Amino acid sequence: MVEEPNDATPFLPERLSLKALREAADGCRGCHLWRPATQTVFGEGRKSSRLMLVGEQPGDKEDQAGKPFVGPAGRELDRGLEAAGIERADAYLTNVVKHFKFEERGRRRIHQTPRRFEIDACRPWLDSELAVVQPEALILLGAIAAKALLGSSFKVTQHRGELLDSELAPIVSATIHPSAILRAPDEASRARERKAFAEDLRVVARTLAGLGHPLA
Ligand code: SF4
Repeated sequence: MVEEPNDATPFLPERLSLKALREAADGCRGCHLWRPATQTVFGEGRKSSRLMLVGEQPGDKEDQAGKPFVGPAGRELDRGLEAAGIERADAYLTNVVKHFKFEERGRRRIHQTPRRFEIDACRPWLDSELAVVQPEALILLGAIAAKALLGSSFKVTQHRGELLDSELAPIVSATIHPSAILRAPDEASRARERKAFAEDLRVVARTLAGLGHPLA
């Protein structure tokens, strides 16, 4: 049996620029996740972005579009950003894993949580995005992204919305993944989750504004 690779490093370009990284990531075969997926979904945004948001992985719609956060969870993210006074175009959006991991149930493709070795395999892309963009603020969306970058003992439920001590960026915070809002059982709890999510984003926007120019 041929062993699957488990590292994106050999696929990194020599020169680190967002364009070169995006093009190289298109051909990444650093783990098995590229095979059933439609395409790589690399991060999106400007090199000059002061804020980076990192989610878990692309979903069904993102896999088809080749862009992050364009499906239902992306619409929730947009609502939260708007409520927090952040222009989406001012942020760099990406995921810890760049290919959609799913299982097929009939005609539907159901999201599957990436495993640690898949997250580790993909990590060189995120590290490169962080190295190029060097955001002043970093928001980790959901437990998978937060644990990947802050350690497996980190609990989003306990520390959401807090300003965290980390070498990843001057301002680091974590909150829920916007897809959690969609999973809320009824409209009242969805509204509560939306409000709390926007407040977590607002904490970072305000802190960033205190460091220099307002973000939006
Ligand atoms: S998930 Fe990441 S490491 Fe795996 S093939 Fe896709 S881009 Fe490469």
